[in-house]
Amino acid sequence: MRMNAASHRIPMIIPCPSCSAKNRIPAARIDARAHCGECKARLSPPDRPLSISSTADFEELIRDSPLPVAVDFWAAWCAPCRVVAPQIEALATARAGTVVVAKVDTETLPDVAGRQAIRSIPTIVLFRNGVEAKRVSGAMSAAQLAEGLAL
Ligand code: ZN
Repeated sequence: MRMNAASHRIPMIIPCPSCSAKNRIPAARIDARAHCGECKARLSPPDRPLSISSTADFEELIRDSPLPVAVDFWAAWCAPCRVVAPQIEALATARAGTVVVAKVDTETLPDVAGRQAIRSIPTIVLFRNGVEAKRVSGAMSAAQLAEGLAL
């Protein structure tokens, strides 16, 4: 069954690869040890960026994820953000199951961006065990992102 890309835009909702039921996954199980609530099939880890839609979702993901989380802070008006977006997606696909890639729109979640002291965008911050480990800013390739974030 072909995955519906749009469903990945809903944060932490993982479609079942077997029956395509949408499972809301606690961040603590985002490494896909979770099973589908409908058919019990094992879920696949997210291979596309998760769009964070609330401060609570951001905090849960950073705090509870068993995997490192790379967060792209971006905005629609930011041209370099549009350049880096496909690279962020490539990173999410290449590192599925080892890194969770998420996106925070700094226009819709300015409090999150403020608390993380985001001064320019795009800025990509890597969190490990709830703590910032690395950050990089500016447009770059997926390979440069991985290198800059020490992934
Ligand atoms: Zn299922």
